[in-house]
Amino acid sequence: MDFREFHFHPSVAAGIRAAGFERPTPIQEKAIVPLMKGLDVMGLAQTGTGKTAAFALPILNRLMDKKRGLVRALIIAPTRELAEQICRDINTLGGQTRLRCMTLYGGVPLSPQIQKLRRGAEIIVACPGRLIDHINRGNVDFSLLEVLVLDEADQMLDMGFIPDIRKILKRVPRKRQTLMFSATMPDEIRQLACEILCKPITVQVGNTAPADTVSHFHFPVAQDLKTSLLLKILKDTDVGSVLVFTRTKHRAKRLSEILSKAGYGSTSLQGNLSQARRQAALNGFRSGKFQILVATDIAARGIDVSNVSHVVNYDAPATPEAYIHRIGRTGRAEKSGKAFNLVTSDDSAIVRSIDRI
Ligand code: ADP
Repeated sequence: MDFREFHFHPSVAAGIRAAGFERPTPIQEKAIVPLMKGLDVMGLAQTGTGKTAAFALPILNRLMDKKRGLVRALIIAPTRELAEQICRDINTLGGQTRLRCMTLYGGVPLSPQIQKLRRGAEIIVACPGRLIDHINRGNVDFSLLEVLVLDEADQMLDMGFIPDIRKILKRVPRKRQTLMFSATMPDEIRQLACEILCKPITVQVGNTAPADTVSHFHFPVAQDLKTSLLLKILKDTDVGSVLVFTRTKHRAKRLSEILSKAGYGSTSLQGNLSQARRQAALNGFRSGKFQILVATDIAARGIDVSNVSHVVNYDAPATPEAYIHRIGRTGRAEKSGKAFNLVTSDDSAIVRSIDRI
């Protein structure tokens, strides 16, 4: 299939070329047509499948001929990093459209966001807490909102955002197009989907299983030998960019320091960092300045870094869903990747569930 078959506005088509996309990914193939018809969509897809462009392109296309300066699309995402990334993707894809996209999230001052809102934007990408703050202060007008997207809904559930989402839903027009994306379908998400989507089309890719472009390796190891094993693996393996997951913020920071001392360009991404330092860590990893990024699950959620050759689960994830999310960072957009799992005897139950999926 070819992007031309969607008959996008020439300015949107130019953005697709600017992004270097040649063919739609499976989720784009399935979701774009119903989205362009204005239908509600429930998208079941893991990260790395191209869902951002799947919803962004129809939104850009829909807003092309609309009066500018009013908020017409709202995308809600669980983390600041993901919000930034979605906005960046929209700016790439919408580079020729003159549509303006901005982010709203906490941890940074309110006033620059307020000023930007006053200058006008058609698309907002927001995290729930700060968005409610702006709504309560009367800083943002959603009266002409046409499209609402809930991205990574299962993660928003894990992070306790569902009550916030319900509050936001009360403050946006009832008549709208609503899209919801989630990698997994826990009961609470199914319930929310029933409440907020109107006769939705369900689009599923990958059956919430790990991407088949990823190979998986278990390394049985004693807890106190994990670091030595990781150093040995790094030394003996031809690795590109490596994303390492630890269970706690403290372990992420410490492990990254050890890797730096061993001579690797390494940085950590964890919730204790200021927004500026999180962004610097991420940019450094993306640009290749740091070969290794050590992160916790929450901090790394949804991050799109292409060219991650290896994901190392230094500590086992808590759930099979978390495993899928973690390894969603490698083997993206049909490249191949490897997942290395350091497993201790304490991890046998979770390893069995991971093996099952
Ligand atoms: P998701 O939102 O599902 O996590 P992304 O939209 O971030 O996934 O896409 C993952 C990667 O694939 C990104 O680097 C994106 O630029 C790239 N990508 C998306 N769509 C295409 C496409 N049609 N062709 C090539 N690469 C694509």
